[in-house]
Amino acid sequence: MHEFSLAQHIFEIIEETKQTHHLHAIEQVVLEIGQLAGVEIPALYMAIQSGCLDTPLAKCHFVLSVVPAESCCLLCHTIFSPEELYSPCPHCGSFSTEITQGKQLKVKSITGE
Ligand SMILES: [Zn+2]
Repeated sequence: MHEFSLAQHIFEIIEETKQTHHLHAIEQVVLEIGQLAGVEIPALYMAIQSGCLDTPLAKCHFVLSVVPAESCCLLCHTIFSPEELYSPCPHCGSFSTEITQGKQLKVKSITGE
């Protein structure tokens, strides 16, 4: 049910943007979801679709773009793609790594008129 509250949060951001920019209709919303954000993309998509029903957003096109994970080793500075949140460095095996990309969940752009 985590995805439903996320969808709700996304709708709030859209609503705020709509008011700030005096938009009448929202045409497209692009979301960036990190591979390690812990979000089930199909579940989020379903939550968004069901939340839009019978609202002005029903015609809006939602684009869910997945951002691949990227990690950096703090010891040898190798940059690699971790499969999990705590994947060791493939070069030196160290667990002292830092996720540099792939944990975010953000509204990248909102297009409307
Ligand atoms: Zn390393």
